[in-house]
Amino acid sequence: MTDQNKDQKAQAPKTQRINGVRGMNDLLPADAAQWAHLDHVLRDLTRAYGYEFLRTPIVEATAVFQRGIGEVTDIVEKEMYSFEDRLNGEQLTLRPEGTAALVRSVIENNLLYEGPKRLWYTGPMFRHERPQRGRYRQFHQFGVEALGFAGPDIDAEIILMGQRLWDELGLKGVRLEINSLGQADERAKHRAALVNYFEKNKVQLDEDSERRLLSNPLRILDSKNPEMQTLIEGAPKLLDFLGEESLTHFNAVQALLKANNIPCKINPRLVRGLDYYNLTVFEWVTDELGAQGTIAGGGRYDPLIERMGGKAAPACGWAMGMERVLELMSVSGSLPEAQTQCDIFVLHQGGETLTAAMIIAERLRSAGIDVILFCPPDGQSASFKSQMKKADASGAAFAVIIGPDELAKNEAQIKDLRASGEQKAVPLDGVLEAVINALVGASE
Ligand code: ATP
Ligand code: MG
Repeated sequence: MTDQNKDQKAQAPKTQRINGVRGMNDLLPADAAQWAHLDHVLRDLTRAYGYEFLRTPIVEATAVFQRGIGEVTDIVEKEMYSFEDRLNGEQLTLRPEGTAALVRSVIENNLLYEGPKRLWYTGPMFRHERPQRGRYRQFHQFGVEALGFAGPDIDAEIILMGQRLWDELGLKGVRLEINSLGQADERAKHRAALVNYFEKNKVQLDEDSERRLLSNPLRILDSKNPEMQTLIEGAPKLLDFLGEESLTHFNAVQALLKANNIPCKINPRLVRGLDYYNLTVFEWVTDELGAQGTIAGGGRYDPLIERMGGKAAPACGWAMGMERVLELMSVSGSLPEAQTQCDIFVLHQGGETLTAAMIIAERLRSAGIDVILFCPPDGQSASFKSQMKKADASGAAFAVIIGPDELAKNEAQIKDLRASGEQKAVPLDGVLEAVINALVGASE
């Protein structure tokens, strides 16, 4: 910031609006029910498969991601929010994804001590990308990770979880694409063939790909540049370099998917952005979201735990972009209807009627009933007419009305806000019973 800018800032009126950070969104009340619904479905899903929840901090040492994701990846090269701790100079990063941090935690807490673990996580991730539909700087992921299992059964299991999730959410047209990255030695042979092929066609490479030719040629296959697609189509395929063991694993995963009626398409160009994958990799894609069509992806990452300093153990998992999934639910019309705010809305006229109304509201809440107590915006009072408008808008099924006349008779009125509009007087200490009866009656 220049000194002149600083001066202008200093002079800016204190009441000037301060906006949120670009690409980082508020979750507004109108959308809260959708997120809650998704959370709920995810919790049920993880329970159904015996996955346990693990939460890591949002900030980690930068090295966790440099080592865990790999230096030559979009995320580490250009997307991380990294900063130096002001007090001790530590290099820190807002987590851009969940796996590396989860593995850090599993190693640090010795969680694989008693054998393999099935885990899941959810939370905000941060990547410095160009914000657009389905691409934000703070976004949310849900992910599952199965650690310590080597066989193709677990690859198939986590994929089945994904398919069950799309079904539960009412999402149609989500396609599964799958590939095998084999093992390091197989990739090395493929890499040599790939470099050779791209070297021969160097004039056709774009700037990014030319850079990757030396650092991470596999990633060239991932390029979205339309001008490079023909070149990429003709490149040597990794699948042709796989040895028998890798092929057996890949075939077994496919056979298990087939036996469970999960269609999938082999996409030889699917390499995933992160460095740590081997064998099975997969993505779920849709045509409904434009350029941001990948809603989830993952695969096997057997080398990662050892690479992060733990005792070698195989692992696999996937992560899903929650904003993209909700957007897909929205375009496919499978979002749940917005929920009402409460069951009962309580009206009063201030003073002693407020005291009585508050006591009644608490009594109802103790019985598990959702209650909104009217509070006058001016702190004084409001007409029953304007209160009744608020009661209607709240979605409550019934209003409980305590005015001075009612209080004088030790009564309250209960008004049906939905079906009949009927209103009747009940004794104050019979309000709970009357409300329960009314709610049960209304739901029959
Ligand atoms: P993309 O190719 O779209 O950049 P990616 O390969 O970087 O995705 P992963 O690291 O595999 O994504 O993350 C898993 C999922 O998280 C993605 O499939 C996507 O649904 C979601 N995701 C990734 N980056 C963003 C973002 N910036 N904003 C919203 N969702 C995202
Ligand atoms: Mg990305």
